[in-house]
Amino acid sequence: MASNVYRNGTGSHKGAMRPLAASNSSNVKSSSFKSRIPPSSNHSPGSAPLRRCNSAGGSDGVPGRVRVSVRLRPRNAEESVADADFADCVELQPELKRLKLRKNNWDSETYEFDEVLTEFASQKRVYEVVAKPVVESVLDGYNGTVMAYGQTGTGKTFTLGRLGEEDTSARGIMVRSMEEILANVSPETDSVSVSYLQLYMESIQDLLDPANDNISIVEDPKTGDVSLPGATHVEVRDERDFMELLRTGEAHRIAANTKLNTESSRSHAILMVHVKRSVLGAEDVIPSETDKSSHFAKPPKPLVRKSKLVLVDLAGSERVHKSGSEGHMLEEAKSINLSLSALGKCINALAENSAHVPVRDSKLTRLLRDSFGGTARTSLIVTIGPSPRHRGETTSTILFGQRAMKVENMLRIKEEFDYKSLSRKLEIQLDKLIAENERQQKVFDDEVERINLEALNRVSEVERNFAGALEKERLKCQMEYMESVKKLEEKMIENQQKHGCDGFMQDKCNREGPGSSIVEDVAEVKKLLEKEIHMRKEAQEEVNKLKSQLGQCPDSGEGGGSEILKLQKALADEVRQKKKLEEEMIILRSQMLQLTFEADQMRRCLGRNGSANAYGGLDSPMSQVRDSLNGHKTPVAALFEQVGLQKILALLESEDANVRIHAVKVVANLAAEEANQERIVEAGGLTSLLVLLRSYEDENIRRVVAGAIANLAMNETNQELIMIQGGINLLSVTASRAEDPQTLRMVAGAIANLCGNDKLQTKLRSEGGIKALLGMARCGQPDVLSQVARGIANFAKCESRASTNGIKSGRSVLIDDGALPWIVQNANNDSSPIRRHIELALCHLAQHEVNAKDMISGGALWELVRISRDCSREDIRSLARRTLNLSPIFRAEMRRLRIE
Ligand code: ADP
Ligand code: MG
Repeated sequence: MASNVYRNGTGSHKGAMRPLAASNSSNVKSSSFKSRIPPSSNHSPGSAPLRRCNSAGGSDGVPGRVRVSVRLRPRNAEESVADADFADCVELQPELKRLKLRKNNWDSETYEFDEVLTEFASQKRVYEVVAKPVVESVLDGYNGTVMAYGQTGTGKTFTLGRLGEEDTSARGIMVRSMEEILANVSPETDSVSVSYLQLYMESIQDLLDPANDNISIVEDPKTGDVSLPGATHVEVRDERDFMELLRTGEAHRIAANTKLNTESSRSHAILMVHVKRSVLGAEDVIPSETDKSSHFAKPPKPLVRKSKLVLVDLAGSERVHKSGSEGHMLEEAKSINLSLSALGKCINALAENSAHVPVRDSKLTRLLRDSFGGTARTSLIVTIGPSPRHRGETTSTILFGQRAMKVENMLRIKEEFDYKSLSRKLEIQLDKLIAENERQQKVFDDEVERINLEALNRVSEVERNFAGALEKERLKCQMEYMESVKKLEEKMIENQQKHGCDGFMQDKCNREGPGSSIVEDVAEVKKLLEKEIHMRKEAQEEVNKLKSQLGQCPDSGEGGGSEILKLQKALADEVRQKKKLEEEMIILRSQMLQLTFEADQMRRCLGRNGSANAYGGLDSPMSQVRDSLNGHKTPVAALFEQVGLQKILALLESEDANVRIHAVKVVANLAAEEANQERIVEAGGLTSLLVLLRSYEDENIRRVVAGAIANLAMNETNQELIMIQGGINLLSVTASRAEDPQTLRMVAGAIANLCGNDKLQTKLRSEGGIKALLGMARCGQPDVLSQVARGIANFAKCESRASTNGIKSGRSVLIDDGALPWIVQNANNDSSPIRRHIELALCHLAQHEVNAKDMISGGALWELVRISRDCSREDIRSLARRTLNLSPIFRAEMRRLRIE
């Protein structure tokens, strides 16, 4: 009813007020509603331009006049009787859509309507001509109104509200409309909800919630849309729901009217059906450039149509004029009048195209604002009775209908963007994009990982190649070294053979041109060592480079952990490699120092032309000490400082036989210097050496180990340690098995040193030390024999001391163990060291009378006599003489033999 949207379609409606002759105007055109509605964009989105009305009011509406039908109720029982003699006050010409209102027997007025429904019109037909086009419009997104107007008892409720529960053909417009709507909406995308209200005395009651009895009308100031937010909206899914709802509403209506002491004909019943449908709009044209680069094609615009069907069963129209005169309470009459008369005034104003339409005068007109002069498709059915007694009412009803026919609405589709659905769709699109992004990220991560792996593989390949090259180089160095050692040994043997067996060092010293060859070897090994160091440096640089390259690899996020593990592993390999190289270096250094040491010895030997010892210390241990004290450090001592004792000792347990033997040699050399002995023993070197002696059958190892032990055995504390750790037994066993004279010399030297310890006498004998010592004499090598003799002399001296001090009694253990024959036999040995030791041993034995008889019978007396006369050493000579003189037994025997 808003005047601002009123469109006077023809401007010639006034004629409708007049009898037929004057009403032949455009407002009675027989064109159906439907033909004037644009094709639905719901079914064919692109087929017609969308009339998008977001209720803010564009100007692109479609004119749509209010359609008005008239329905005649059949005579009821009462009328059949009372009006039996009278003709009906109206005569219908349905085919002409005309109604003749009889004034009297000879005069009548004819009115034309959009539909004329006789008393025989079925409910179905009434629905189809009155409501169906409106319902279809609502389904298409337009608001719609079907309203019944008429005197009480003329069939408004019959037409609109019959439920037809027993007889479905009797169903009224409400049920049929709902049926049609429900049949056409999609439960997935659309929704239908219903409010059911009663307007009585300007107050709106909720028939679905009777407690809610003063619902206010809210108008959107922008769009002018009217809504009742306080009313109950019940979602309807099927007809059963709806019937139930209507029944509830009806029951509440009766209850409310009872309470208010009124009747339904005095109130207006309003059923509001809200239909919300989702449709897809036409796609917008998007610039093709962005289209191509974009990941998603712009989806068709989701639209939502929110239309409303309002079905109004008005209060009886008779009250407009009859109230008050029929004794109704004034207030009620005023209120009922208010809404209906306001409706009449608005329709008049609209029909006459008045400047002012008093919409705001009543709640009914406010509620129906969109239905008359608004945007809704509106169909009015006016109901009349046949009785001539109500001619006045009938006439006024017909005139109301005629005026309403002049009201032109401007239909607008209630369509807007479906932001919710659009947002849902965009969310789905976003999800898709996120998934795609994740997939691409994964591909990227995989690629990064692959590159990392490749880099690592390359690194390890380089490392492998490098390690291989290093190993080759190492083997080459070793081979060269072994060869040079072999050459040296060959030369040595050659020299020995040339110059006879004149002592180990003697041979060495007498070699032809010893200095030059060794110096060459040393230079060569030095060169190798430098090369090795250079290669190691390069390797280290390479490793550092690779490490920094790895560090620069892009961080692959969560894969970083495994990356780090991999790097750590590579690093650990690197460290192992480095350690191996270090070992290599130590070996090479020790090799070099060994050679340097030997060369040094050789040079010194040549210089002095005196006697020295390969491992030092056996015959004259102090000579080594002297050297080291001489101001400049020995090469071995230098090695000791460079490499560190622990590292050298650790190499004793190396799995590489070559490494082991070199380490033993180095330790042996170190042990030759008194200054180192204590440190070696403290660092566990002695124990390691004994373990080696116990566990290795290898003659070379045994020889050098025995040498090292011999050197350590010079020290008294070490002697005891050797004894405690089972060393005597070990040396005895080694002595019995060894064939190599050098090994035997070393073992004999070690035992000889032990023999000089007073505390070890008993143990030495009980563990087979004496027997082992004597056993070694079997080899006949002067060096070995010299050590055996020294041992026996040492032992005899200690034993003699013990006997003198009263610690020991009885015959000499040496005699018990059968040493005497060997002593006597070698007492006059060509080798002066042997001879001298034996001479001393004989003197010590002879000092105790218990031994005298055995010595005499064993032929020792003769030797003693010889010593006392011929020994080159003055001290020994006089010792022998003194001893003989002091022994009564010897003297007696000498007298007997007439020896002076
Ligand atoms: P209103 O709602 O206009 O007051 P009702 O719909 O209550 O009138 O109708 C009054 C009576 O007339 C009811 O008994 C109803 O059944 C009957 N009636 C109305 N219209 C018709 C019709 N077209 N055919 C048969 N009976 C009708
Ligand atoms: Mg009624």
